[in-house]
Amino acid sequence: MAIDVVNPYEVAVAQFDEAAERLGLSQAMRAILRKPQRELIVNFPVRMDNGDVEMFTGYRVQHNINRGPAKGGIRFSPAVSLDEVRALAMWMTWKCAVVGIPYGGAKGGVICDPHEMSFTELERLTRRYTTEISILLGPNSDIPAPDMNTNPQVMGWIMDTYSMHRGYSIPAVVTGKPLSVGGSEGRLEATARGVQVVAREALRDLRMAPEDCSVIIQGFGNVGSISARLLSRLGCKIVGLSDIKGGVYNPDGIDVFAALRYSKEHGNLVGLPGTEFVSNSELLEQPCDVLVPAALENQLTGRNAARVKARLIVEAANGPTTPEADEIFNERGITVVPDILANAGGVTVSYFEWVQDLQRFFWSEPEINSRLESIMTRSYRAVHDKAEEQQTNLRMGAYLLAVSRVAEATEVRGVYP
Ligand code: GLU
Repeated sequence: MAIDVVNPYEVAVAQFDEAAERLGLSQAMRAILRKPQRELIVNFPVRMDNGDVEMFTGYRVQHNINRGPAKGGIRFSPAVSLDEVRALAMWMTWKCAVVGIPYGGAKGGVICDPHEMSFTELERLTRRYTTEISILLGPNSDIPAPDMNTNPQVMGWIMDTYSMHRGYSIPAVVTGKPLSVGGSEGRLEATARGVQVVAREALRDLRMAPEDCSVIIQGFGNVGSISARLLSRLGCKIVGLSDIKGGVYNPDGIDVFAALRYSKEHGNLVGLPGTEFVSNSELLEQPCDVLVPAALENQLTGRNAARVKARLIVEAANGPTTPEADEIFNERGITVVPDILANAGGVTVSYFEWVQDLQRFFWSEPEINSRLESIMTRSYRAVHDKAEEQQTNLRMGAYLLAVSRVAEATEVRGVYP
């Protein structure tokens, strides 16, 4: 590919097309899987604290629901677009298939800047958006979860709004909720825990000891900050971190707990004592053994991939690498654990939460963590073996497994009517 493709939906479709080609899928199957099944656009008013009414636009996209109910997070961000939500929904379909949980893929988003909104404005926005997309939602049809800038409190409002309309509590309509309303132990850390497991397995395959590895993490939200903690617990030295304000770097290592405290106190990491300031893009090019993009799409591109120093990239974010960068990493022998595998720990524990809510029977944290651990290890090994067998990289290995599972379900269900 000659130029950087920055439209995430085009990236997602290009990745799918390559897998479909290798799998020899029929033209009809390719046409079905390339397009999201359902796309809902909602425009709705929200009363702001100053009394004004503002209009917001939101989306909910279901890509494919042949393996089970639609599943996927909701993000609040000024950068949300229909194509971004389409891409993220498609990636959810493959993600659920890679780890073998019985869901289809979905995603939602609202164009807004949550950092500029008050708590009560966010509550009203969440409740109205939930109402607007409630024609799709339901514990058997479409189950949202947290994503960028949404959290357990937002999930609690979604659960309450949906339940209010029905007249009784329906906790299984959304995951990532607070424990007090049917959330699951371990859900908050689940994505990062999955990142830790696949990083450990990949390092073992590369014959690199965690204690000898330096790690850079881009993004200090739920996934980035907890990954930093868990990777340092694994024995790695964290040398670089960043948030939206910029990055901090110290080749001798950063104390993750000090960084967490500093970020809580100051609202960001800039100025963390003992570190040098670098921009978010400079951070990706600093010396390290392992790079964990845990922020946005399109961070590793044709423009910077040649300067990345890491031996291993673990995609905690969705879609951080463009196909052009992927090609460069391939040529340079850099291992990439792809997003649809690396960050699947979140949706895996969402699945546990949903099962617990449906059964009204709750599991202990050690039970959750050990089931998560075994699903992530098994999935990593299956992807690795598929990649070896097909002499390809881990991304294609994951896609071959996932797309063939979804295609099989789609084939066996047939074309209705
Ligand atoms: N938003 C997360 C993801 O991208 C979690 C989705 C879920 O738990 O349904 O995987």
